[in-house]
Amino acid sequence: MPEYAIETPPVVALPINGSDVLFPVRRVYCIGRNYAAHAIEMGHDPDREPPFFFQKNPNNLDPSGEFPYPPHTSDVHHEVEVAVMLKSGGTNIAVADAESHIFGYALSLDMTRRDLQGAQKKMGRPWEIGKAFERSAPVGPIHPVTETGLLNEGAISLKVNGEVRQEGNMNQMIWKVPEMISYLSEYFELAAGDVILSGTPAGVGPIERGDVMEIAADRLNKISITVE
Ligand code: MN
Repeated sequence: MPEYAIETPPVVALPINGSDVLFPVRRVYCIGRNYAAHAIEMGHDPDREPPFFFQKNPNNLDPSGEFPYPPHTSDVHHEVEVAVMLKSGGTNIAVADAESHIFGYALSLDMTRRDLQGAQKKMGRPWEIGKAFERSAPVGPIHPVTETGLLNEGAISLKVNGEVRQEGNMNQMIWKVPEMISYLSEYFELAAGDVILSGTPAGVGPIERGDVMEIAADRLNKISITVE
């Protein structure tokens, strides 16, 4: 066993539905503008341009059910997304082989400091300050693919204080999950523990302290997250 010069950071590990063992996280990739109606609401042409990705940090994933309103913003948006967890990886994975690498799925939120992201976009700068802040990705328990089957269609939605704000169907993704895995594997080496947030349907908007977000998708248990 090596000795470390400083206290070792904890392994980020997420709960698995119906199990006592945890899923350890290696990396987090997020796809942008992957539902046509959301691309349009953000002012972009939804034609099939190449996909683009940004990253969050593994310890931005937060299964606590609470979302602390982050600093330096007055416009925090919800983006409900299905997260895909990988049990294996590699490079240059064929689309036809991609689904064999999926461990399971979880409901998640790509919380976004939209004002900061917008300022960065305008200056052509990277998005981390708008996207990869502390606890920016609330996440529900992981449902193994052995339980859910492959999730390529099914309703996905988000309510705030009981009112529907986002509604879509996973079959509306511009880039399908196997295509995302294949594409990412051409540019990065994917591996067990990697997580991919698969994009958000239309209806993104702001939340306030005290709001309760309820997120749901077919075959995944719905979860509630309170804005603190
Ligand atoms: Mn997103």
